[in-house]
Amino acid sequence: MTADLLVVGGGVAGLVFARRAALAGHRVRLFEAARVFGGQVTRQDVAGVALDAGAESFATRGGDGPGTVLGLLGELGLAGDVVAPAAGSPAWVQERDDRAFPLPAAGLLGIPTVLDDALLPALGEAGLARARQDAVLPPEQGATALTLGELVRARMGDRVVEALVAPVVRGVHSTTPDQLPIDSASPHLRAEFGRTGSLAAAVASIRSTSPAGSQVAGVRGGVFRLVDALVADAAAHGAELTAGARVTAVEDDGVEVDGRRLRGIPVLARAQRAPDPARRITVVTLVVEAPGWRDAPRGTGVLVGPEAGRVRARALTHLTAKWPWVREAMGDREAVRLSYDGSAAPDAAAAAVRDAETLLGAPVDALLDHTVRTWDRSGRAVSDDAALTVGEERAGTGLSAVVRQAEGLATSLTVERASGRCPGERGRMEG
Ligand SMILES: Cc1cc2nc3c(=O)[nH]c(=O)nc-3n(C[C@H](O)[C@H](O)[C@H](O)COP(=O)(O)OP(=O)(O)OC[C@H]3O[C@@H](n4cnc5c(N)ncnc54)[C@H](O)[C@@H]3O)c2cc1C
Repeated sequence: MTADLLVVGGGVAGLVFARRAALAGHRVRLFEAARVFGGQVTRQDVAGVALDAGAESFATRGGDGPGTVLGLLGELGLAGDVVAPAAGSPAWVQERDDRAFPLPAAGLLGIPTVLDDALLPALGEAGLARARQDAVLPPEQGATALTLGELVRARMGDRVVEALVAPVVRGVHSTTPDQLPIDSASPHLRAEFGRTGSLAAAVASIRSTSPAGSQVAGVRGGVFRLVDALVADAAAHGAELTAGARVTAVEDDGVEVDGRRLRGIPVLARAQRAPDPARRITVVTLVVEAPGWRDAPRGTGVLVGPEAGRVRARALTHLTAKWPWVREAMGDREAVRLSYDGSAAPDAAAAAVRDAETLLGAPVDALLDHTVRTWDRSGRAVSDDAALTVGEERAGTGLSAVVRQAEGLATSLTVERASGRCPGERGRMEG
């Protein structure tokens, strides 16, 4: 029997699921409440250039195998447009107003692999000496750690956590290392540490499997192109996708869309939990004239520590320094985006200009265009009370996690169908 799957939500998770299920021969309908598909992956036009408004990169761990973003882009014919961030310009950390240093280029979430004197500005003599003990400590030290913070403290000491790991974890996961489970930080870190007995060696091993030595990649023209390609390909394989259609009720055997009751197996690809105010962020994108930024004074951007009191932004991405295609599109103009915790301040653009000038150490001659966008996100669900669920709440934040989980669930349904079972018969399913 052909399952009739009703996907609620057309972000990347819903679209990936819908496409894979349609490819496997399921009859799929997807409903997206917003006018456009993509959710947190969407485009904006700033100074006449199309840029990503939400996610602008993805983790490349896992290479281009099944369930990876790279693999998916390849299937969608976009492999040739995958781009690495500009080489040789790592991000910086602004730890305090008077203290900034570059992050180790070959690290993982700020954990260094090479403990040489280049880390002195970040760690100081004592901090570096403690970090180097990782190589000689017994392998049991840190073996029972549950969080990333615990593991790094045990192996390399507090200074590595505070100076290097905390700013990255704050920027990437919106949490602290001591609250981040090791497996959420990196699915292979625990196993690699167990195998090598050294944190630096474990990180080096994980990094060596990343293509081109970079942990993240982007798409020339914007990551939002993934959404356009998914929509086109899912539709080409028979999925019926509708934007501007809000699902108002979900039951075991159907959903209600705009007052109409449809029968089928619901697949939830939208947040079920209320937005978590602690995870609200505002992103300000600026296009400016600022000749002093041309040489990328802070590499691809700056992560701001909580003690840098003069700056309200928690991170700055120097888009024209990070992505060669943005540089090409912008010409002599500079593009940056700054993230803030919470809602937009009334003077968001002016404040962002001031923060960018402080962080990049050179003035803005003219503000040419800007956008301000606030994103609400919910926390990660801990229960499995929904029958079929894909997306960030179940998979964790980030395209890599979301794509892997949505592909996995769609594939497992297909296996079930091949074995003669209808997915709905299973009732509950782990995502
Ligand atoms: C500013 C920003 C920057 C980011 N940067 C990165 C990055 O660089 N790299 C990275 O990997 N990740 C990044 N992320 C995270 C990444 O974008 C998300 O983890 C991922 O896109 C989540 O996809 P999703 O499909 O699970 O959820 P969403 O994209 O939130 O999709 C859920 C969809 O469900 C729809 N919906 C909700 N309710 C209903 C309803 N009742 N009926 C129908 N539809 C409904 C919503 O409109 C939405 O489109 C970023 C996120 C943001 C906001």
